[in-house]
Amino acid sequence: MRKKIIAGNWKMNMTPSQAVALCAELKDLVKNDDVDVVYCVPAIDIVPVVNALKGTNVKVGAENMYFEEKGAYTGEISAAMLKDAGVEYVIIGHSERRDYFKEDDALLNKKVKKAIEAGLTPILCCGETLEQREMGITMDWIRMQIKSDLAGVAAADVAKLVIAYEPIWAIGTGKTATTAQAEEVCGGIRACIEEIYDKATADAVRIQYGGSVNAGNAAELFAEKDIDGGLVGGASLKADFGKIVCYNK
Ligand code: PEP
Repeated sequence: MRKKIIAGNWKMNMTPSQAVALCAELKDLVKNDDVDVVYCVPAIDIVPVVNALKGTNVKVGAENMYFEEKGAYTGEISAAMLKDAGVEYVIIGHSERRDYFKEDDALLNKKVKKAIEAGLTPILCCGETLEQREMGITMDWIRMQIKSDLAGVAAADVAKLVIAYEPIWAIGTGKTATTAQAEEVCGGIRACIEEIYDKATADAVRIQYGGSVNAGNAAELFAEKDIDGGLVGGASLKADFGKIVCYNK
């Protein structure tokens, strides 16, 4: 049985003081022992948020990291820095980073490996554009992303990671994939993991859906057999996130 994992992606929102206030506002709303709850927060919010969440059920994630150990990489943050600050998860390959910051699969593969080496759990994002969906190449594209991003990663490590399926056309647009569309691709990702690795690894890896998840659609999406929770952008910044986390209550 895979435990559901519901992660907020705060993106470039919340100053440190706003971040601490949001943690306090959501504290009692996001208690659900059936679910792993994670806030992926901007780098500058990590330390105050780790402190604000001490003694709660919520874990902290980063939104990005660099793959090098340390050195002359001005502006970057290493996996070791995140780990030492109390971070447990890190989003890798969000479509906004792939698109605006030109992160390609070769780079993301290095980031995944470094995160795992440092003891962080990657939340590896994948997903198709609307054009790719309309061309009928959604699954081919995502299989290519998964194969490239996980090249050389051992089965035991893949079993522990989180993959987020996020159709780009559904992110921040209010257009959610239908439950059937989301389940079809999440199931396809699991089949891809079984093909590259084995059934035990495919059964263990947690696959989230992300793209305009809200309090109204979370329960239906998360009831699907291959959807193990969600990566939530906009709705993670408000009290609604509590309703998403408590989707089964
Ligand atoms: C995201 O940023 O990963 C995301 C899914 O955003 P939203 O929920 O706002 O669509």
